Amino acid sequence: MRWTCPAILWLFLLLSIPVAPQPSHSREDLSDLVLVLDPGHGDRCWGRVPADPGATVKSLYGEVAECVLTWDTALRVKELAESHGARVYLTLSMPEKPEAHPKNWDQNSIPEPGSPDSPYRTLVERPTPSSIGQALYSRVETANRIYNTWQWTHDVYFLSLHFDSTNPDLAGISFYYPDWCEKPPFVSVLERSIRRRGGERRSLRTGFEYGLSQAYPYAVLSHANNPDSYLVELANLRSLGNSGANPDLEKALNPQERQAYAELLVEALLHRPEPLHSNRRTVRRLALALLLFFALLLFRQWRKKRYRSSSRR
Ligand SMILES: [Zn+2]
Repeated sequence: MRWTCPAILWLFLLLSIPVAPQPSHSREDLSDLVLVLDPGHGDRCWGRVPADPGATVKSLYGEVAECVLTWDTALRVKELAESHGARVYLTLSMPEKPEAHPKNWDQNSIPEPGSPDSPYRTLVERPTPSSIGQALYSRVETANRIYNTWQWTHDVYFLSLHFDSTNPDLAGISFYYPDWCEKPPFVSVLERSIRRRGGERRSLRTGFEYGLSQAYPYAVLSHANNPDSYLVELANLRSLGNSGANPDLEKALNPQERQAYAELLVEALLHRPEPLHSNRRTVRRLALALLLFFALLLFRQWRKKRYRSSSRR
């Protein structure tokens, strides 16, 4: 057909026209964000796979398990991100309604893992894992499935939340990103948010900052398809100050501080950078090009019909 070549040429021209850049993210809007939250540990035992409480520490308040803290903090991040319009998924299932809300557990009321107040939960992707490795991969498989589904239309972020138990001289937040990709631009945004609140990991003895962020091949990062995958250690449950106090454990056992962790993470997400090669922009450009292409087709057909009817007269 006479017009096919010019039409195809036009289609290619349209595809090469840059679509106007997205406005920088509004300070309050997360509607173009899909967030996968991984509350570290806390999955129930299945067959030969034991239940996983994560790090456990003995304190004045009894034994405290990491998974109780990661679950409560994840629910806080979820609620806050959803209130800004984000779509949020968890890597652990949440069958009962009352569990959907964070609890104001403090040092006097923090429950034991596996108790009715804080039951072990089922992994979303592999509810019946046959090994500890499978249980771990279930989390990143959820993240990958959601990334593959949403990456074309939304920014997708994966946050695996933890409270570690490491060198007692250290206190504060540190986080890790995948080592198989360029350093994601969100790393410096998250660093800024943490430093703005004075939450960066430091030596209690010297006050020097210690490894706020680094690339590291943790399984949930090295098997992730999404470069925007982060494992965040929100506190060191074994921190030990000069006076014998454990500043990070005290923070983690304070519901207001857990809310502050959630606010910090959501604040960073609100300031996340535009992806360097935005898939969404490509999809929008393609949709615009196709729309105009079909409009051209319809116009051509309409003109042809008009020409025929006028030539019959
Ligand atoms: Zn952990």
